[in-house]
Amino acid sequence: MKKMLFKNIVFSTIREINLILFKQHKKKLLLMLFLILLGSVLDVIGLAVILPVANLIFNPENIHKSHYIQSIYKTLGFTSDTNFLYFLLACLGLIFLLKNAAAVVISYLQTKFSYGVATDLSQKLFKNILNRDLQYFNDHNSTNLVRNIQIYPFHFSTYLLLPTLILLSEVIVVLIILIAISLFNITVIGLMVVTLLPSFILTYKLIRNRTQFYEMERNRLNTELTRQAYQTIHGYIDVKLFNKEMYFMTLFGKNQQNIKRVYINAFTLNLVPSKIIEITAISAIIIMFGYSLFSPEINANITTMIPLFIAAAYRVMPSMNRMLIALGSIKGYQYVIGVIKDSLSPKGKGSAYEIDEPLDYTESIEFRNLSYKYPSGNKLSVDSLNLKISKGQKIGIIGKSGSGKTTLINILLRFLKEQQGGLYVDGKKITQSNENNWRQIIGYVKQNVFIIDGNFYDNIAFGVPKQDVDHKKMDNVLKLSQLYDVVQRLPQGLNTNIGENGAKLSGGQRQRIAIARALYKDAQILIFDEATSALDSETEKEITESIEAISNEHKTMFIIAHRITTLKNCDVIYEMEDGKLKNSYSYDEIVKSILEAN
Ligand code: ADP
Repeated sequence: MKKMLFKNIVFSTIREINLILFKQHKKKLLLMLFLILLGSVLDVIGLAVILPVANLIFNPENIHKSHYIQSIYKTLGFTSDTNFLYFLLACLGLIFLLKNAAAVVISYLQTKFSYGVATDLSQKLFKNILNRDLQYFNDHNSTNLVRNIQIYPFHFSTYLLLPTLILLSEVIVVLIILIAISLFNITVIGLMVVTLLPSFILTYKLIRNRTQFYEMERNRLNTELTRQAYQTIHGYIDVKLFNKEMYFMTLFGKNQQNIKRVYINAFTLNLVPSKIIEITAISAIIIMFGYSLFSPEINANITTMIPLFIAAAYRVMPSMNRMLIALGSIKGYQYVIGVIKDSLSPKGKGSAYEIDEPLDYTESIEFRNLSYKYPSGNKLSVDSLNLKISKGQKIGIIGKSGSGKTTLINILLRFLKEQQGGLYVDGKKITQSNENNWRQIIGYVKQNVFIIDGNFYDNIAFGVPKQDVDHKKMDNVLKLSQLYDVVQRLPQGLNTNIGENGAKLSGGQRQRIAIARALYKDAQILIFDEATSALDSETEKEITESIEAISNEHKTMFIIAHRITTLKNCDVIYEMEDGKLKNSYSYDEIVKSILEAN
C-alpha cells in the first residue's frame, strides 16, 4: 500500500531526475544515498546505545546477568563494576562525538553535491538559453528566463533531488527498524502497521494537494513580485511623471500580502504531519494502557509490548515525518521538472558557437531570393528579396513602418532564419556552421544601445578582461568614434563608470560607445539601426558625424534611417515596401524629391 502511494510521484520523479542529471552526478548518487543512510543509521545507533547504558547504570547487577555484557567485561579485563560503567560512559561520549562529527561531514558532502548539481545545471541552462534564437527571447519574459536559469536549478537539487534521496534512505531505515523489531515481537509490527501506516497515508493525502498549491502559488507570486519591482524601477521616470507611485506600490503590496499568506499557510501545513503522527502514536499507547487496565488477563502481554512500541515509534515517527516532508516537497516542486526539461530540450543544442567554420569576406554580401514569414504572421515580412552589396559599399534603407527593415537586418544578423533563399558572403551561404564567424565581423549600432553596468573598458572591449585590452587599438577606436575628447575630460578616464543602461551618457554618446565597440572587434560590416524617428536633432547630428568620421575606413555599412540626413554618406538608398526593395535612389535624388514634394 505504501508502495502504491509512492508509485506515481516518486517513480516518475526518479525517472525525470535520471534524465536531467549529468553523468558525473549520477556517479555520485549512490554514494550520496549511502551517506544519507549512514547518517540515519548513526542516529539509530545513538538512540540504541543510550538505553542499555542507562539500564546498567541504574541496575549494575545486570552487568553479570547478560551473557554478552559479561563476555565484554571479561575480555577487556575489568575487575570493578564502577570502572566498567565509567568505560561505558566514555564509549557513549565517544560514540556521540563521532556520530555528530560524521553528521557534519555528511551534511557538508550532501550540500556540496546538491549545490554542485545546481550550479552545473544552471550553467548548462544558461548556455542552452543563449543558443536559442531571437524568437525564443521575444516569446519569453526575461524575469522568467533569469528565474529558470538562476533559481530553478537550486530548487531542483534542494527540493526534488535531496528529498528523493532522503525519502529512499528513510524507507530503508524504517524497513531495517521494522525487521529488527520483528525479531523481538512480531505483534508490535502489526500494531505499528495498523496505527502509523493509515495515519501516514491519510496525512499525505491531506497535505499533498495543498502543498503543491502553495508551492505553485509561492513561485507564481515571487515571479510576479520580481517582475513588478523591476518594471517599477525601470519605469521610474514614467511612474513619477504619471504620479502613479501609489498605484504600483498597491499592486506590489497586494501581491506581498498574498505571498505572506502563502508562506504562513505553507509553514503551518509543514508542521501538521508530525503532529498527526504523534497523536496517532499516543492514541495507540493510551488505548493499549487503557485496555491493559480493563483486561488484566492480557496485561502481561501488553506490558512487554508497550515499551517496544514506544521505542519503535520514537524512532519511526521522525522518519515518517521526514518522508512526508520529502514527499510534500517532491509533489510541490514538480513544476520545476517541466521547466528545466523544456530549457534543456535539444532545440538549444548543436549551437553555432561550438562550430566555427572559417569565413572570408573580401568581396560581397548577397541576399538571394530571400523570404521570411514570422511563425505568427500571415504574410511574408521579407518577400523574395535580391540584393548584392560590394565590400565597402554604404547602403541606406528607408521605408514605412512595417515594411520589413528590421526583419531584414535580423536575417542579416542571423537572429532570424529565412524559410527560402539565403544570405551569401563571397558566394558562400551562411549556415549554422559559420554564423559565429559571420557575426564576429558585424557591428550593430542600435538606437537603444546595450550598456553594461561598468566602465568604458567593459563597454568598448566588450567581454575582454581589462588586462588583455589592447591600449593602442583602444586609443585609435576612441578617436574614430569621437569619444576620445569625452574620455579625456573625465577625471577617471576610461575607468569611469557609465552606469546601468548608460544612464550617465547622452544618446549620441551611447551610440558612439556602440560604434567604438564594433570598431574594437574589427567589424567589417556596420549596421546602424535607427528603429524609430524619436531621435533629437542633436543626437542625430552626432550620429551623422560619427558615420562620416568612419566612412573612410572601408567598412560596409547598412544604415536604416528615418531621417534622410543620416543617409548623406550612402552610395545608394533602397526603399522597402511589403518586404521588397521597391526603389533605389542616390542621396541627391531623395533630397530633390523631398524638395519637390514640398
Ligand atoms: P519595419 O522594421 O520596417 O518597421 P518590421 O521588419 O518590424 O518592419 O516588420 C515587417 C512585418 O513583419 C510587419 O508587417 C510586422 O507586422 C511583421 N512582424 C514584425 N515582427 C513580428 C513578429 N514578431 N511576429 C509577427 N509578425 C511580425
